[in-house]
Amino acid sequence: EDVVEMTAVSKVYGKGGSAVAALREVSVGLPRGVFTAVMGPSGSGKSTFLQCAAGLDRPSSGRVTLAGTDLTRLGETKLTELRRTRLGFVFQSFNLVASLTVAQNITLPLRLAGVRPDRAWLAEIVARTGLGDRLGHRPAELSGGQRQRVAVARALVSRPEVVFADEPTGALDTVTARQVLTLLREAADALGQTVVMVTHDPVAAAFADRVLFLADGRVAGTLDSPGADSVA
Ligand code: ADP
Ligand code: ADP
Repeated sequence: EDVVEMTAVSKVYGKGGSAVAALREVSVGLPRGVFTAVMGPSGSGKSTFLQCAAGLDRPSSGRVTLAGTDLTRLGETKLTELRRTRLGFVFQSFNLVASLTVAQNITLPLRLAGVRPDRAWLAEIVARTGLGDRLGHRPAELSGGQRQRVAVARALVSRPEVVFADEPTGALDTVTARQVLTLLREAADALGQTVVMVTHDPVAAAFADRVLFLADGRVAGTLDSPGADSVA
């Protein structure tokens, strides 16, 4: 079953002679519980793909559905609410709130949604991300790897239907990158989490079940990892 379905999605930036086709009639499904990596050269449309799949940007034409909800037909308010409650995000630049503690950053999506945090679930997230002794710290007091683990915890806390990660290891060294990728891998394996990660790093992509290659705004191919048991 595909959680996200993209049907003939095109995205054109600009108008007339200076128009750029970033996506060209992309049709692809993102299966539930599967960790998908999106790769391709610079300018191939990876960011645009993620933005359209996650309802952060609107396609010029085509359709994007999340578990049956047509994102392209939702107004801004509904779309923002959907992103807050049904999706999780991890970005290269962490995007933590500097004035909040680690614990407050992690539970922020729940508080924005007016949902009381479930203690057992929070404890599991904190244990998985290894942040137990950092809960009272502020982002400035953390290393890059720790900050990104906070971002992963925040992305998982609302049990989103999909976690979108845009170059999550782009600002990390090899060792901490591996920790963050392992967390995403385990989110798929142990929690059944659907994960979609844009990366230009083949080592990072190797953590995924499935790699989608983009070239010039089109899906140029897909590769299923031989070890992936969750891919049909
Ligand atoms: P990637 O993430 O693979 O580097 P992008 O999705 O960022 O690719 O970009 C795809 C194409 O769309 C590129 O040619 C890029 O220059 C263009 N593009 C991306 N964002 C914009 C924008 N906001 N305005 C104009 N062109 C853009
Ligand atoms: P909010 O008003 O709650 O921030 P947004 O629609 O701006 O709602 O964002 C929804 C989610 O997407 C948030 O988790 C936010 O962190 C993330 N997000 C949206 N746009 C960006 C962006 N350009 N860079 C980083 N994160 C973003």
